[in-house]
Amino acid sequence: MTIIDLIKNTKKFDKAKDRFSKMSSVHVNIKKVTPMVGTKTILFSADTWATKNHYKTYLFVKGIDYVDKPDIEHPNSAKLGSDKYYFEQVRVKDHKIQVRCDCRDFHWTFSYYLWKKKSLYQIKKGAEAYRTKGLWERNPKHIPGVCKHVLALIDRLARQGAITKISI
Ligand SMILES: [Zn+2]
Repeated sequence: MTIIDLIKNTKKFDKAKDRFSKMSSVHVNIKKVTPMVGTKTILFSADTWATKNHYKTYLFVKGIDYVDKPDIEHPNSAKLGSDKYYFEQVRVKDHKIQVRCDCRDFHWTFSYYLWKKKSLYQIKKGAEAYRTKGLWERNPKHIPGVCKHVLALIDRLARQGAITKISI
């Protein structure tokens, strides 16, 4: 799935309004941007929180083009050891992504359905077991959406220019 797919899906969700309105109260600290030049992937790792509880939130993107020197098409940089790489903007309608957040909403509402769509970052063993009664009640239409933390991370990256502009 793409970032646009995630957002469209989350908007379909019955409680979508809550997640989109709560997104603005989420703090985002991007801890690490990991360029994986060989596999043409990139990982954005963030610490996110609205109140006391902090969560680890990830956006992993496939098919990213890298160059050694910046140009118009590769405006963003990320370091790997002593090397610096420049990468293209993540295109919200094109690039395939995977996401993960360790909050309860993500785990119990969305992770299983994201996993089924190959859009769950770092599959944990026993992902099948996520399909519980609780999850069924929370997501009866089996929608692969995301929590407010992932939305906030996407919004931050769009504002920084690492991903193409999007109106959430
Ligand atoms: Zn979350």
